[in-house]
Amino acid sequence: MTLSCRLCGSDNTFSFEVIDHKQKSNFPISVCKQCGLVQQTHIPSEETLSLYYSHNYRMDYKNTYTPKLKHIRRAGLAAFERIEFLMTSPINIKDDCKLVDIGAGGGEFVYLSKRNGFDAIGIEPNHGYSEFAKREYGVEIITSMLDDLTESSADIVTIFHVFEHMANPLAVMKKIADVLKEGGLLFVEVPNLLQDDASPHNRFFKAHLYYYSKYTLIACASKYFDVIKVHDNGNLRVLFKKKALATKTISKPSDEHVELIINSFVDKGWLNYLFKGKGIFKPFIIIKRLAIEFKLRNVTPKELLDSIG
Ligand SMILES: [Zn+2]
Repeated sequence: MTLSCRLCGSDNTFSFEVIDHKQKSNFPISVCKQCGLVQQTHIPSEETLSLYYSHNYRMDYKNTYTPKLKHIRRAGLAAFERIEFLMTSPINIKDDCKLVDIGAGGGEFVYLSKRNGFDAIGIEPNHGYSEFAKREYGVEIITSMLDDLTESSADIVTIFHVFEHMANPLAVMKKIADVLKEGGLLFVEVPNLLQDDASPHNRFFKAHLYYYSKYTLIACASKYFDVIKVHDNGNLRVLFKKKALATKTISKPSDEHVELIINSFVDKGWLNYLFKGKGIFKPFIIIKRLAIEFKLRNVTPKELLDSIG
């Protein structure tokens, strides 16, 4: 069976097996030689994914149906960095800017961005997490999948570590463009295929259907969005602005960039991670974090987030 790339449509792809170290299972991924998109060879149907994310995902990966204090602290710190990224971007953010966070999880980003002046709401398919966010922080979270969102005049859409789980990247970009008003902003964060500071054991997860580099992420958005700002030292963060008119075709990554992506599967290894990516220091950072998390008691989720920023 030949596989058609879900970005450029080419069937000029090659496949190999990778390992999900968390679930201890193998699965095949495919790389497009035309555009450099890296995807799982077998993408599940929308129905299967919808059922999975509304029910089992958090249990499989975090062993819980509501966020624990240590997860809230980590999510709060990440949310704070993302708000800083937005605030330091060359854009005009007016008061009460309407923000929609897709895949809002436990609501940490929605709550902290509201505290920073955004008129923020979230959408999250998992019932346990969205109810938790509403109850603990009093924020508005729609318990649903993205397709059910009816908003069409948002100033900003944010989507953090969700896009790589979605089956049809081009359809998702179109849907997000529909949610935004003219000139609206899209802020995406995904794991970065080309980053050095991820352990080779931490690269592939069965739940991640796509493995983006800045070149392929920008290509996925290119029909509807222009790039404003890219951060790719670590996780990949890109801020986009909605185009006045969508283009008919995507802008494909250059041959040179496609080659860079393909070569990353040859070069990537422990030496790169330990030295170039400073992985050698990671055990110390993790011990320090665990020591702080161990002391997290007698504090409500809201108090914890309020102490962050
Ligand atoms: Zn392709």
